[in-house]
Amino acid sequence: MPENHQDIARLSRRALLAGFAATPLGAGAAASQGATQGAAYRQPSSDGAAGFMAVAEDMLKKAVEEGDQPFGAVVVKDGRIVGWGPSRVVTDTDPTAHAEMIALRDAAKRLGTNSLSGCTMYSTSHPCPMCEAGAYWAGIDRFVHGRGGTDGGAPRLRRC
Ligand SMILES: [Zn+2]
Repeated sequence: MPENHQDIARLSRRALLAGFAATPLGAGAAASQGATQGAAYRQPSSDGAAGFMAVAEDMLKKAVEEGDQPFGAVVVKDGRIVGWGPSRVVTDTDPTAHAEMIALRDAAKRLGTNSLSGCTMYSTSHPCPMCEAGAYWAGIDRFVHGRGGTDGGAPRLRRC
């Protein structure tokens, strides 16, 4: 069984990396990695919050298809998605790999910066305290969460 699980994790990781490599941003260093765009790692087909949330839902579906928890998130800057995050908790055996954390890391890598000021996070669920703190430290401007697109405002550091 452990071998099976590792095989599945390896396949999932390969699929994830293929998705990353196949997603051009149109500008920046990451764009040179891309050739063809994967279905899940895409820009929205409709404008505005509903379109970004639809792609976050794609991330949720991708996570579920790969045997992970049902969460997805994207990071948006200047009207374009710059970071994609399916939950990777199970597939990466990483308790901190929530969809929002994956999306933050992806956006920072693609943009080549540790500051995501000017960005908005769209997440399929209300962020947990870890993800809200991560967004705070990244400088994310706003959180929008849930199917109804609730505007959660600026992320905050919560006192324990
Ligand atoms: Zn979280």
